[in-house]
This record gives sequence, structure tokens and C-alpha cells, in this order.
Amino acid sequence: MKIAFLSDIHSNLEALTVALEEIERRKVDRLICLGDIVGYGANPVECLELVQSKTSDIILGNHDAAAANIQDLAYFNDFARAAALWTMSIISDEQKEFIRSLPYEIKENDLHLVHGTPGEPERWHYIFSEYDASSQFDAIDGRICLVGHSHVPGDYREKNPVENAPAKRIINIGSVGQPRDRDPRLCFVIYDTETDEVEFIRQEYDIEAAAGKIRRAGLPEFLADRLLWGW
Ligand code: ZN
Repeated sequence: MKIAFLSDIHSNLEALTVALEEIERRKVDRLICLGDIVGYGANPVECLELVQSKTSDIILGNHDAAAANIQDLAYFNDFARAAALWTMSIISDEQKEFIRSLPYEIKENDLHLVHGTPGEPERWHYIFSEYDASSQFDAIDGRICLVGHSHVPGDYREKNPVENAPAKRIINIGSVGQPRDRDPRLCFVIYDTETDEVEFIRQEYDIEAAAGKIRRAGLPEFLADRLLWGW
């Protein structure tokens, strides 16, 4: 089975639309979202609607939780807090209700899916590096864990697996709507459960349009600029 995984869309409709077109073209069997549909960008309502209609499963992200009032904003920096308050004022009560129904994790066969980390998924820890990943392998229930949250794609393998056990693997699928690895192109993953192959897909999209909407909405300028930098 081929599964497309999207994460950290962050209300970027221009990026999401391009990613969904590519997924359609690839004829995957399933589409799963690892959270943060909203926050930062200017199209939260449209992104929630699209993701809800196109995916089989959605994990709760910290920015989704903030917009639905189930996450303390004190944890956020000024930019994230401003975007969360704006998003909260734009999305519908039904959309907030829907967000509150989302799970922190999904475990299915060999797969463990979370937004941040398999250990304490509700605490929103980050995986940016091999070092961050190394402390998380023991917490994986299954063999392969797919995460988002840091917006930095990566493929990490357990160095010293338990005897006779296959090495566990953590795949950080990167971000559709706000990449932070100095490559501004959107990022998502297609994973093949039969061959265990992971493909990282990077695509250009209309960054200027997405950034322009952020500026016109009165959201922090930095949130528009960083899309162009990919950082
Ligand atoms: Zn995010």
C-alpha cells in the first residue's frame, strides 16, 4: 500500500493545492495528515475543509489545538500566538469541534504516527536531528514512526536495535506549508508499506501569493518573509 503523508500545512492553501494535485497524480491508496493544518498562514478555513475531505486520518497538531482552544498559548512565541488568535477568530465552531476530536497518535500494524515525537506526543517535543531521534526509538510502538512538527525532513535509523529485532526508523516528513530546511519548496512523503521505501517530494508553488495573503490579513510580516527563505 502506498500512503501519502502530509504535515504542517499551516493554512497555506497555495502549497496544499499543489501537493494534493501531485498526490492525485501518484494514485496513492491513502492520505494521512500528521497535524498543524492551521496556524501562520491566511487560509485556515479552506485548508481544514480540504484536508478533512481528502484524508483518511488526521493527527492533532499543536497549532490546531491552539486554534481550538485546547492548548495554552503561553507556550507559543509572539508570531505563533498572533497567528493562533487570528485563526481562532476565523474558523467556525464546527471546525473547532472537529479539531478537538482529533487523536494525538495512531498505531496501526508497524506504523506509529504522531505530530511531534512517539514519546509523550501530547508534549510536542521536536525532532530536528539524529540526536533528537536517538532518544525516541524506544518509544515507538511498532517499527516505523512518521512525524512532522519541526518542519525539517529527515530519515533516521536506530543504531543499536534490541537483539533479533529489526532497526526502528523515524521519518520526519517535513512541512507542506512552511519548510524550514532552507529549501522553500513544499515537502511531503509517499511511503510504500510493502517495499519500505520513502520518497520525499519537493515542489515549487506560488509562494508570493501565499505570502501576499499573509500580509493582507495583517498577520506578522515575518510569517510571509520566511516562506520565501524556507527558514
Ligand atoms: Zn508546524
